[in-house]
Amino acid sequence: MKIGILAVQGDYEAHARMLQRLGADYILVRTPQDAAQVDAMILPGGESTTMLKFLKEEGLEAALRALDARGVPFFGTCAGAILLAREVRAPAQESLGLADLVITRNAYGRQLSSEVRSAPSQLKSEPLEMVFIRAPWIEEIGPGVEVLAREGGRPVLVRDGRILVSTFHPELTEDTTVHEYFLKLAAGHLSGVYSGFGRLESEVDAPAAAMDGTARSTSSESGASPSAPRPRF
Ligand code: GLN
Repeated sequence: MKIGILAVQGDYEAHARMLQRLGADYILVRTPQDAAQVDAMILPGGESTTMLKFLKEEGLEAALRALDARGVPFFGTCAGAILLAREVRAPAQESLGLADLVITRNAYGRQLSSEVRSAPSQLKSEPLEMVFIRAPWIEEIGPGVEVLAREGGRPVLVRDGRILVSTFHPELTEDTTVHEYFLKLAAGHLSGVYSGFGRLESEVDAPAAAMDGTARSTSSESGASPSAPRPRF
């Protein structure tokens, strides 16, 4: 499984370091040709307006929409979350609209302009460290959206099927939990079972057939074993 990291602006190198630590295969995506190679896609933090401009200029918006049409999993952090939302406010801005969310940019103002907090999540028993940098607010979520973490009562980590969104920056901490979660989500989506990535392997109840590399080509017909985790999409 090859993960693409959008690398036109923002903190894409921090995501790359996380994926290196997890032993994941990744490429930096700067052109539509790069995008065409990937099985899952990360949109980093940065400045969403600038990213949007590059996406249009470089033909990457169409390339990302083509990935979505292929059912590729996406993970967006902060500005990446803004790009993925169905609707963006303050000011209104175009977006890819892959996640059923309404998001307001820079909504925390000085209250949470740049701050490290921690809050419980559904991903692990200990609180998750959350770095907020001029973070957006998730104002509304659609009925199919699962809230994985809240901070101050607001959703800050949510999942809409194969689309994972965080308004904070897990890539700027030492904690690999959120990236591991995305790799599992993506692998589960691609094959119905988990079949790669060293440190995650032991956590997965994969049938033997999936371990020989055939899982992806056969998953649509045979699916996973009844015991394998199947994310809903
Ligand atoms: N405020 C930025 C935006 O609107 C996002 C900030 C971030 O990614 N840290 O795009």
